[in-house]
Amino acid sequence: MSNRRKFLVQTLIGGIATGLGYRYGLASTIMKPAVLPPDHESFPIILSTWNHGLAANKKAMGVMIKGGSVLDAVEQGVRVSEADPKVQSVGFGGFPDASGEVTLDACIMGPDGRAGSVACLKEIMHPISVARKVMEKTPHVMLVGDGAQKFALDQGFEKTNLLTPEMNDNYAAWKASGASYAPHANWENHDTIGLIAIDINGDLAGACTTSGMAFKHPGRVGDSPIIGAGLFVDNEVGAATATGEGEAVMKTLGSFLIVELMRQGYSPQQACELAVRRIVAKIKVHPHFQIGYIALNKSGEVGAYAYAPGFQYAFSNRNETRLVDVKSEKKN
Ligand code: ASP
Repeated sequence: MSNRRKFLVQTLIGGIATGLGYRYGLASTIMKPAVLPPDHESFPIILSTWNHGLAANKKAMGVMIKGGSVLDAVEQGVRVSEADPKVQSVGFGGFPDASGEVTLDACIMGPDGRAGSVACLKEIMHPISVARKVMEKTPHVMLVGDGAQKFALDQGFEKTNLLTPEMNDNYAAWKASGASYAPHANWENHDTIGLIAIDINGDLAGACTTSGMAFKHPGRVGDSPIIGAGLFVDNEVGAATATGEGEAVMKTLGSFLIVELMRQGYSPQQACELAVRRIVAKIKVHPHFQIGYIALNKSGEVGAYAYAPGFQYAFSNRNETRLVDVKSEKKN
């Protein structure tokens, strides 16, 4: 048999074997979705990072109670943080980069596996809604920088100055101090919002939006708009999202890792703990390092874990909304 013929035959056999392997091997590791989740009575369930998640969860719950989709709910929820200048690591009033410009990152993912994302987006108040438009109106997943801004303007979004006078003062003080960039997540509870939700039908979606690390290098993009790093949703299994030092989350693809661990049968709590420990095992962390993960599975079970103390998340179900203190790998 000629080499080319041999190659074609081998490729064909390999393809069939891979197909069968996928069908009978990999597929058998996929967790079967619960027909009726155990906690179904209290659905919808919403989880979001930090205390500003409380207001976001309330908005998202309201959307679903009124019959809106879980995708609408996650988008509308995080828009609350994006528009709030008191939330200093998201949207309007977020910390600028080292050149004094506010640049925003966001992504969204729905139950149908579609995803949209924007990074290094300037002068647009609601990057999450631009990310949703990328998902719905383009064949792409991610737009960045000037291209993302042009797309947003074409879609009817308006330019807004995102640098508030307070942030301008913070920036001037930082500049005057001569300090160089130092990662400082977990600062006064103002950080990225990642919000994940399950609706009464058991469908999952998530959204994640941030202005990134304060005084970052111009052009720096963190984990938050990266599908699989800052956020991942698999409607058969669950959803996870991250906050903290994005570089570590990106290097371990944290949210995807958590969802895959849940697929293998780990609880959301175990999966979050393993993902934090993966970082500890693989990456050199510094004294101010922080990472927080939250996760939700198809049955409505929740989990969260952080590297350092101080991380909180907002939990909501049909009956209540409350802030939860999260256990951490480092005890103090
Ligand atoms: N994860 C975000 C980033 O690295 C920052 C944060 O959560 O505060 O851009």
